Amino acid sequence: MRVVFLGAPGVGKGTQAERIALQYRLAKISTGDLLREAVRNQTTLGLEAKSFMDQGQLVPDSVVIGLVREKLDDSSCANGFVLDGFPRTVPQAEELGKALAEKSTALDLVVNFQVSREDVVRRLSGRRSCPKCQATFHVDFAKPKVDEVCDRCGDSLVQRNDDRRDAIETRLKVYDEQTAPLVRYYDERRLLSSVDASGSVDVVFQHLAKVLAPFLVR
Ligand code: AMP
Repeated sequence: MRVVFLGAPGVGKGTQAERIALQYRLAKISTGDLLREAVRNQTTLGLEAKSFMDQGQLVPDSVVIGLVREKLDDSSCANGFVLDGFPRTVPQAEELGKALAEKSTALDLVVNFQVSREDVVRRLSGRRSCPKCQATFHVDFAKPKVDEVCDRCGDSLVQRNDDRRDAIETRLKVYDEQTAPLVRYYDERRLLSSVDASGSVDVVFQHLAKVLAPFLVR
């Protein structure tokens, strides 16, 4: 199965992508994770991407397209993949189509995660991340056992620079202007399914499993 998870920042795509990838043995390709790793490792690409990311702006298409093309070539994608956070612009979607066509393949499905704007802001502004093992928590919905401390590795939790109020506003504006047009793009190609992502992680996972089921039994 080759599927794209589409939706505004904070809708929970990443959490669900992680679960789906594990359950169905798919590769998870998250451009946000790949870019954050590059920033941590201070690679040339990471240094170029950092200021865009901190401000909540998109990293240039050429950079992310290169990253994704490289991942798609990896043998881990042979059984299929979940793309989380890519494509985010129409040119990225076009490049993805081309890259898959070169491999004589195509997307099976694009899932559009839908959550109210108010919920998205609450989810993003309360998110806390572990700088060491990358686990994520939430100050209201997924509290760590000890305040501000990672359950998994014991490091101190931090708020991502792009989860601060002003960066959240920019990210949502960027989503509306550059990413939301992909809903129509994929709908016109008859690839789009929508999922109500307003419930708990388990409830959303159940909705999602139903939407994905026809593609898994093939
Ligand atoms: P995410 O974790 O998916 O919210 O991504 C965090 C940040 O990484 C975004 O705000 C962008 O700055 C950058 N980023 C992730 N994916 C893309 C993409 N497909 N195109 C451009 N920038 C991206």
